[in-house]
Amino acid sequence: MGFSETGAWNRMGLKEQCQSELVAESSFSSITRCSKCQVYNLHIGPVSFRLEAEIFENFCGMIVEFFLRNDFQVSQREPVIHKH
Ligand SMILES: [Zn+2]
Repeated sequence: MGFSETGAWNRMGLKEQCQSELVAESSFSSITRCSKCQVYNLHIGPVSFRLEAEIFENFCGMIVEFFLRNDFQVSQREPVIHKH
């Protein structure tokens, strides 16, 4: 009662084929979504993460919050100055 399979894994423990649609794309990363499984796939370079919708949305919130804070200290670090 109330139990529903996600459809992500079958009885053999093998991953079923997902009908993923591309929902976002940039130079180095992309996001696809399988509406059947309610799962997002986050692709960053050669790495991909399979995240349930709730977790993915939570992750997005964190990224957006960081982005809006514009706190990119790593990429804005001062270059090392060598004295001659
Ligand atoms: Zn799927």
